[in-house]
Amino acid sequence: MKVGLIRCSQTEDMCPGTTCFKVMSKKKLAFEDVKEDIELIGVNTCGGCPGKNAVTRAAEMVKRGADAIVLASCITRGNPIGFACPHEKIMKDAIVKKLGKDINIIDYTH
Ligand code: SF4
Repeated sequence: MKVGLIRCSQTEDMCPGTTCFKVMSKKKLAFEDVKEDIELIGVNTCGGCPGKNAVTRAAEMVKRGADAIVLASCITRGNPIGFACPHEKIMKDAIVKKLGKDINIIDYTH
């Protein structure tokens, strides 16, 4: 699996992504059923509220080889401060619309 990771721009101020990278490398939680090797193609943020840049940034990572777009848990679960993104659904729907159903969209990391 070749992963393009999208994270919350606001959370980037405080979180270095340690747990996201750890669960990916150890195939835990969102990645526990992945059989093949996991390669991280890239990490980018949503670009800031309301997250419109997530669509073009996800598309760019697919262009560079990603076959799965992963929305980090800062977006969908509010980790680590318990404040999930209020735009998460529209962001995810826009990514699916842009990339089609052939790209695997995983909506959390841990
Ligand atoms: S749009 Fe959502 S994911 Fe992006 S910075 Fe705002 S709260 Fe974070």
